[in-house]
Amino acid sequence: MDMVAEAHDKVVFQSLEGSLFPVDHINIAVICDKFPYDLNKEGPIIQTAMSNRTLKILIHFLYPSQAPPDLSGLSFDSLDEVFSVVSCWGMPLAKEFCRYHLVKYAGQYPMRILYLVEDSSTLLESLSPYLANISAELLLAFGVSPQLCIRWASATFREKSVFAMIQAEQVLDHHDDCGLWRRSIKPFMKQKLHTLGEPRVLLLRRHEEEDIVLIGVDDVFKAALETINNHWNSGDSHHFAHEETDEDMNDDIEDMEDLMMEGNSEDSEGDYGEPSFIQCCKMHLELWKKVVTQEITKVKF
Ligand SMILES: [Zn+2]
Repeated sequence: MDMVAEAHDKVVFQSLEGSLFPVDHINIAVICDKFPYDLNKEGPIIQTAMSNRTLKILIHFLYPSQAPPDLSGLSFDSLDEVFSVVSCWGMPLAKEFCRYHLVKYAGQYPMRILYLVEDSSTLLESLSPYLANISAELLLAFGVSPQLCIRWASATFREKSVFAMIQAEQVLDHHDDCGLWRRSIKPFMKQKLHTLGEPRVLLLRRHEEEDIVLIGVDDVFKAALETINNHWNSGDSHHFAHEETDEDMNDDIEDMEDLMMEGNSEDSEGDYGEPSFIQCCKMHLELWKKVVTQEITKVKF
């Protein structure tokens, strides 16, 4: 690197706050693959756009004999800033160190972290529950390495995700003794959970960044909850709008009998003044949400 040939053995950086940080040339030359400043054009002090904190962390990385910087308390934005600096300076080990700490933000900022994955399978793995139904082409567009994109597109990962959805879907069959669930809520869920005849892989957390709208667990949960509430609000819990078959009629009679029975029990009304025929479906919906969340979380890239 040219700067090694410079007579001075220190480069002085100034932070946004105005503090000065002298750094040995030789450390920059050894640690960094790139150097974003032109020493011939800069004055004796290089004015940077880095905060004191970011510059201190950078200097920690430039002196590997010292203890590594403590990044555990950094917000996502600060970590993102440090990552962008060490990328710009060509510091692969520092990037890995940042990625290690970025993992904990996977659920909060999956799309923003996707830009930082490059060839890190660990980071992509941490994002997989939140991005499971994203295409490999899209990953490539986010700068993920072609090798990881190929792995992403492989049947194994896709199959594991689909299997998790199928496992969770079985929960839907365990509340068939409830007429509202069996005839209205369950079919509604089934329809939401399939696309083109295949189970739809739901995201643990939906994100609308980058104009990508994918369906998350919460979307299906809320839509089903709304359907349950609509039955209650319409006061039409056991008479559905569709043309009823004899079997439906019988079910309706059973439902009404159930309701009458429930009317006699003490817990027929819950905390919100809702009858138990609504509450049982809500509870079962909660159970599905819990199981599907567990199953998706188990799928590792
Ligand atoms: Zn129910």
